[in-house]
Formats: sequence, C-alpha cells, structure tokens
Amino acid sequence: MQPLRIFAPLLLIAALLAAPLASQNAGIPEPKDLFGFTPGEDGRLLSYEDSIRYFEALAQASPRIEIETIGKTSFGREIRLAWIGAEPLLRKKQRILAMHRDISDPRRLSKEREQEILEECPNLLLMSMSMHSSEVGAGLYAPKLAHELITREDPIARSVRERVLIALLPCTNPDGMTMIADWFERRKKAGKARARLPWLYQKWAGHDNNRDWFMLNLPETRVITRQIYERIRPTVLLDMHQMGGSGPRFFVPPYADPINPNIDPVLTQALNLLGTRIAHDMTLHGCKGVVTSTVFDNWWNGGNRNVPFRHNILGILTECANANLGDPVIVNPKKLRGRGNRLPEHIAMMNHPDPWTGGKWGLGEILRYHRQAAWSVLRTMARERKEYLSRKILLGRRAIASPQQDGLLGYRIKTEADQQANALRLVANLQALGVEVQRIKASRDYFVSLAQPYRAMAKDLLERQRYPRVLDAPKPHGRQIRPYDASGWTLPLQLGVAVTEVRKQAPSLDGPAQRLDLDQLDAAASKRWKLTREAIVHSSLHDLDSGRMLFLALASGHAVRLAPDGRLLLAKAGKQRLPGPKVELLRIGIYHSFIANMDEGWTRYLLDKGGVPYSRVTAERVAKGDLQEDFDVLLIPSISRSSLLRGHGKSKQLPEFVGGIGSKGLQALHQFVHAGGRLVAWGKGVDAVLPIPGKNVINVLHGLPGRGVTVPGSILRVFQEGCNDVDKGRLPKQAGRLRSTKRLTEGLCFDRPARWGVLQRDRVALGGSDLESLLTYPEHALLSGYLVGGKQIAMMSAYARVASGKGEYLLMGFRPQNRGQTLATLPLLLRTLIRVSE
Ligand SMILES: [Zn+2]
Repeated sequence: MQPLRIFAPLLLIAALLAAPLASQNAGIPEPKDLFGFTPGEDGRLLSYEDSIRYFEALAQASPRIEIETIGKTSFGREIRLAWIGAEPLLRKKQRILAMHRDISDPRRLSKEREQEILEECPNLLLMSMSMHSSEVGAGLYAPKLAHELITREDPIARSVRERVLIALLPCTNPDGMTMIADWFERRKKAGKARARLPWLYQKWAGHDNNRDWFMLNLPETRVITRQIYERIRPTVLLDMHQMGGSGPRFFVPPYADPINPNIDPVLTQALNLLGTRIAHDMTLHGCKGVVTSTVFDNWWNGGNRNVPFRHNILGILTECANANLGDPVIVNPKKLRGRGNRLPEHIAMMNHPDPWTGGKWGLGEILRYHRQAAWSVLRTMARERKEYLSRKILLGRRAIASPQQDGLLGYRIKTEADQQANALRLVANLQALGVEVQRIKASRDYFVSLAQPYRAMAKDLLERQRYPRVLDAPKPHGRQIRPYDASGWTLPLQLGVAVTEVRKQAPSLDGPAQRLDLDQLDAAASKRWKLTREAIVHSSLHDLDSGRMLFLALASGHAVRLAPDGRLLLAKAGKQRLPGPKVELLRIGIYHSFIANMDEGWTRYLLDKGGVPYSRVTAERVAKGDLQEDFDVLLIPSISRSSLLRGHGKSKQLPEFVGGIGSKGLQALHQFVHAGGRLVAWGKGVDAVLPIPGKNVINVLHGLPGRGVTVPGSILRVFQEGCNDVDKGRLPKQAGRLRSTKRLTEGLCFDRPARWGVLQRDRVALGGSDLESLLTYPEHALLSGYLVGGKQIAMMSAYARVASGKGEYLLMGFRPQNRGQTLATLPLLLRTLIRVSE
C-alpha cells in the first residue's frame, strides 16, 4: 500500500471512478441471495451456520475479506473471525498486527519505528456482535455490514477500507445465535410469540458471558481474549448489544458515573469524544432517541466494554432498544420511560436531546441504528487514523511512567503449597490478559510490576476495590449512585491467594515468568491423578486442582479416606487398604428451572470442570416426591421463590416448560431432608426454601426499613468458630443474633486458618434459635467493594446448618461459586457433596 497521505487526494478521483469499478462487485452475493431474505425483515432470524455460510461466500468472491477459525465454543462450534479491508491491507495483515503490537508496548518502539508506523499503519477495529443471543440485531447486521464494506465504492467506504483494518466477529456467542433462531421458530409454531428461551443461551453462563472477561472461565471468552490482547490489540473494540425496549432507543458512551481511578483520563476523554461523535452522527441521520451517560458505567471490571480500557483500548458499548426477538413491537408513546438516574423521565435532556416518539419498533429500525453507529465509528477511525495510533503510544508511555502512589511498585504473588493451583490460576489469568508477570530470584513467588503498559488491568485486578462516593444530586437530597454490577472483584481474595503490595524496593527478578496456559492448567489435575506413581496421594479441598483430584478419584471408584490431619488420602486402584474414616461421593441433584438460571449454570460449570457427576432435577421430579430414593444431596442455586414455586405462567410459555415445584414440591424438599437428605441452598435459594417447618430460622434482612443492606457482589470477611467442617466440629447452637468473643480469623477453611472472605450478592444473613452458624459476619465485614447497612449483618450467620429429622439443611447466604470466580469459597460447596462415614 502507498503511504496514506498520497492516497487522500485521490479520493475524489476514486469517487468518479466508482461507477465503472462497481462491475468489480459482480459475483459478490448479497445477503438475500443466500438467506432468501434481507436481514432486517420482520420475523426472520439467522442461525450462526447461515451467517457463516454467507461470510464464506463473500471470502470466495472478494479479495477484501478473509475468514478464519480462531477456536471452539462450549458446544464445539468453530468460532469464526472475518478480516475486512482493502486488498493491500489484507495482504500485509501480519505486518499490521506487528505494528499494533509495537504501539501497544512503547518500550519496544524506536523513534524510526514509531515514525514508520504512524505513516503507514492503518487503524484497527475489533467488532463484537450479539454476545447476548437474545439481542439479535448486531448478529443480523454483520452480513449486511460486511457486504457494504466490501462493495461500496464511494469515498467514505474507500477511505474506511484503506485506513481501517476490521476484525469482525460475526457473532461472539455462536451457540446462542443458533439456539435463539431455533427457539424463535419453535415458539412461532407453538403460537407463543412471547415465550422466553427456557434454558441459557450459553452452555453454562447465559447472560453472564459478559461477566467473564477477566476470569476467563468460558471457552469463548478464552479464545476471544487471546485474539484481543495477544494478537490483534485493536485501538477500538465495538461491542454491540441491546437493552430494554421501554425507553430511549440507543445508548452510546460517554458512560455513566462513577469513574475508575485506574483508567487514564486521556482515554476517558477519547471515549467521550468518540461516543459523542456517534451520538451526533446518529441524530444527524435521523436516529431519534439516542442517549448517553446513563446506566452503563466503566468503573466496573469484567465486561467486554471494560476490560479493553485497562489495556488502553477504547471499549465502546452500544445498546439498542429491544423488539420481541425478530418480531416488531408497537410502543405506546405514553408508556415510554426514562432510563437510569441520568434520564429519570422520557424527556429531552442534554444527554438525550431528541427523544423517540413511539410507534413501530422492529428489526428494520434496529439494524438501521446499528448501521449508523458502526459507520460513525468507522468514519472517525479512518479520518483520525494517525491520532488514534499516536494516542495509543502515548497512553502506553503514560502507564509505564505513571507515578506510583505511596511508593507502590507492584504485587508479590505467593505460591504457598496448599493454594498453589489457585496461585498459578491467578498468574495464568494475568498472562492471558496481557499482564506481564515476572519470577522472583531464589523464590517460587511471582512479581507483577505496575510499570507496564497494561498497568490499569494489573492494578484493578490485584487491589481491593473502594467504591467511590458519588451523589446523584447535591446534599441533603443526593443519593449515592449504586454500582452497575459487582463492586469487588479483587482476584487474590476471590481465589484465596496471598498477594502482598511491594513498596519502596522491588525484589530481584529472574525475568518473565514462564507462560501458563489456562486450558492446560484445567487439565493438570486429571493428568496428575493419572500420572502419579505413588499409591497414595494426599489432597485437600483448598484449591480447584485438589478438588478435581478428589472428585476424579471418587467418581472413578477409588478409595478415599480422611486423615487425622484433615487431609484426604486418595488411593490408586488395588491399594484400597487405607486408614481413617471413609469418604464417599453423594448422589447429587441440582434443581433445574425452566426459567433459565445463570447461577445454576455456573454450578454445573464447576462440577463439569471438576468431573463431579450430578443429575438435573426438574420441577416435575421434585413434585413426584421420594427424592431420597435418587439423591443424597440436593442443590438449590440462587433462585427466586416465585421462580422455584411457580416457574413460567401458562399464557406466555410452551406447555412443556410451564410451572414450578409448587407448595407440594416444597413439602417434598422438606420431606427429603427429614428422611435423611442434605439440602444445600444458597443466595436467593435460601429465601426460596424458608421457612423450614417447625424451625426458627430466618433471613434477618427481610423487612428492613429503607434500603436495608446493599452488597452488590462485594467480598466480605467471615469468621468461624473452630473448624467449619460440616461433618465434625460443629458449633454450639446460637440464639437470635449470634454472639461471639472469639478471635476473628478472616476466613474459612477446613484444616488451616485462612485470610479471605466470601462474596455477597443476594442479601441473605441468617438468624434464629435453630441454626448452627458455620460462618459468621463480623462487625466490619467489607474487604473489597461496597456495603451499605453492614451493621445489619454483623454477628449474623453467613453459612448455617439446620438439623431436621435425619437430615440437614446447609444454607449459605452468599453464592459460594459466584460466576465461577470465587474459588476461595468453592471448597465450601464441594465439601457438601461428600460424606465422611465414621
Ligand atoms: Zn447485552
């Protein structure tokens, strides 16, 4: 490609040549040639397979697009990525990626190289479409966008092709796209045009697939993260979503408050500039109802709009109003609502100057809005190519040179023997996210320096969150702006890994740590179990690796015994003679609702990863009763009482997915315990099964005045009195508010003191005269995040046992496996799945 500055004056000539050049487009199929309809028509959705068929046809017909496979989904589909740009750009794609690698880390940039890149290198955009599968617009728009980018010959399109290399994920969640397309047809045939998909549109996470971008549990997140932070390193990541349909039509940044102090203000201003430009262009082109600065924030970490920011990449989230999947809706203007505290009513405001006035809203409108937003980004990136590149270099330099507060230089990750697997998981996560991790000389520990380009990501994951105090109006009427999502995600706390701040002097280093691979770490436990030569393996449940070993051993019928030191002895086949009480794997059932439940999905995820066998228990099975015949332990994930008892109503759902367990089912659950079963409930699931007949156990946070307690995904400290092993060393009964004078140990464990806490989301703290508290909240419980009303939970039970008949309830007010992230508390859940027989 010639230098771009020569190209620009040619644009006019190119435009004049456009007509004859259009013949070049002969043989390039339009979407309707393959699909039989044009995306955007009412009532027509696309499967992922159809969408990809079209992309392949384009790649066959045009040198301006390539398509490649970058990995596999949870259900084994190929994840495809399309590259779009002028032919010369695609020919030197590798060279372009190398240039973007260099500008992402200015330490490797010489003056000459910098100059060369600024002159030659195109801008680089990554587009993520319809990660949330019920938000169908972006996935439907992708084929149209590709066609337009390839075939348009006007100066704008040419300039975009020459100056922006586009990496387009036609869909970020391929499994879900096909699921939703199939479901849309199925419900249409059944005459239930409003029926919601009765299962998750991602194998385990559903909507939480956009909460996984730092923990990297899901195959899709891992594959795409590798592309974003190791291979592509775009300057802009455009993530296209949809939101509720009762208010504004389209959200673009600026984001809502509060601001995250780890993000460079220059980057925030760049975002505000680009977002405002999109809002301007959309309004100019007749898209009414564009709103900015409300609801969606950038303080939070974990979404695909937020993680890029911690890598000096502009993460642009767009949210278009929903229709009814592929069917249009008619919106009564009188019923239009505001959105968030920055648009309390549906009126014209500075951040919403051109309200939509109601009427028909369907795929045609949704795709028109997506198109205007996408082209606005493309035009700006083409026009300001050089500015985007030089700003990224500057941001990297600023991150590296950023003054360290209080002499904070970095973090030391300790690899203590019994949490080694989780420590390695932490290192692997950081590395997968592009964060540099180094070995410390003469030690097995690791060091993460803050003097690195992705400093913001490293710091944001390793430090404790302090949610800022930001009021939505002046005092005395102003109220604190609530967190958008989780407010404490500190990875060392969630993983139970000891990480200390390093100040004043950095340790002597041995160079970059060896690269750890997340998929390989996942496989390590089973490999270790298979390869181990010794007859007996000592294990515990401190980390996922040892948990996996235990369950692999139990599931394959090997003998496991509890040693006097609290550890578990695993015997290889043929070495069954072991001392100590026998450890058995229980018959496990998980309640499975047809109101798709992400928390249940994450539970399955962890059990699947750990090789733990289980069955899904439907409402129908619960209502049949005699659950003890099939199960020893039943898990009730965080589910609302109405979802558990009533499920879907008849009017809006296909008959096979209607209904919940009802009061009869609830009775069957209690009978199951009475007959000797173990019922484990957590989060909202605790509220769903309370009250327990004949027992005084309550959620003490019910009926609190005002806003009561708010803990949106925060990490709290708990303490235990003695050992919290559920089979031995139980605590004495506590009446009402628990009293304790014992030392705060800040943690939970099975056979050693720990330092970390649990994560609270569901506002459940237990009290009453009939429970034994296994874990209790102290007076000052907050470790990371945001907690209002902490006094209400002080000295209340976070985890309680209630004996009943021959069985027991184990009730956790928090989610022990929240989003697959809280590996520190996961052993609590795993421990409920085994029994130690004396
Ligand atoms: Zn979404």
